[in-house]
Amino acid sequence: MPRKLAAGNWKMNGCSPDLTEARRLREACPDPSVGVLICPPATLLSRLSDLLQDSPIATGGQDCHANGNGAHTGDIAAGMLADAGAAFVILGHSERRTDHAESNDTVRAKAEAAIAARLTTIICVGETKAEREAGDTLKVIAAQLAGSLPDGVTAENTVIAYEPVWAIGTGLVPTIDEIDETHEFIRTHLDARFESDTGEEISLLYGGSVKGSNAAEIFAVEHVNGALVGGASLKCDDFLPIIRALEAS
Ligand code: PEP
Repeated sequence: MPRKLAAGNWKMNGCSPDLTEARRLREACPDPSVGVLICPPATLLSRLSDLLQDSPIATGGQDCHANGNGAHTGDIAAGMLADAGAAFVILGHSERRTDHAESNDTVRAKAEAAIAARLTTIICVGETKAEREAGDTLKVIAAQLAGSLPDGVTAENTVIAYEPVWAIGTGLVPTIDEIDETHEFIRTHLDARFESDTGEEISLLYGGSVKGSNAAEIFAVEHVNGALVGGASLKCDDFLPIIRALEAS
């Protein structure tokens, strides 16, 4: 069975005082029955990992470089994230694909580096509003999966997040039928590409305006194994109901 995961992406939000939210989450949720992850800005990763040490809540990076070290000012290698306590890294988020012109090839090279550093990658795919309106959603997702996933993918080292770009941070959410269609499509694609049970066992997350109020119906969709959560992961009071909904699913 795929592992259930509630993953928080703090994006470029959070300074020292915001560690309190993670401390509150740790206290409110000492023994979750699902995976819980917080990906803070890189500046907080080491301190957050220390704070959550000996707790079931994992930490992750929001990006990594494809190289292990070298002259890449401002970048962070996968091994450095692991050294700072990370167990996961988000790759190919639409904000990286847009703001930093990351191609599928770039995402795949980063995924190879992350897997080599023993991180679990969360690889993001999803269509823009124009692509959905043109009827190209599944074609776009297929191309992103084909290009972004390295051959070495296993259910242990990779999670896929389906995030329609138009739903991220907008309050808009696809219909349950649309979420069902895309997740089933992704599962079928993974089944066809990867050997044995890998395609069946990879966790699939939905991302895009998930909140406590809509989490339960999203988690009831057959191939949805959790969520990648932006805004609602910043505060313990907002993230906790999503974790509870996943536990109940
Ligand atoms: C995200 O950043 O991946 C995301 C889904 O954001 P939000 O939950 O705020 O839509």
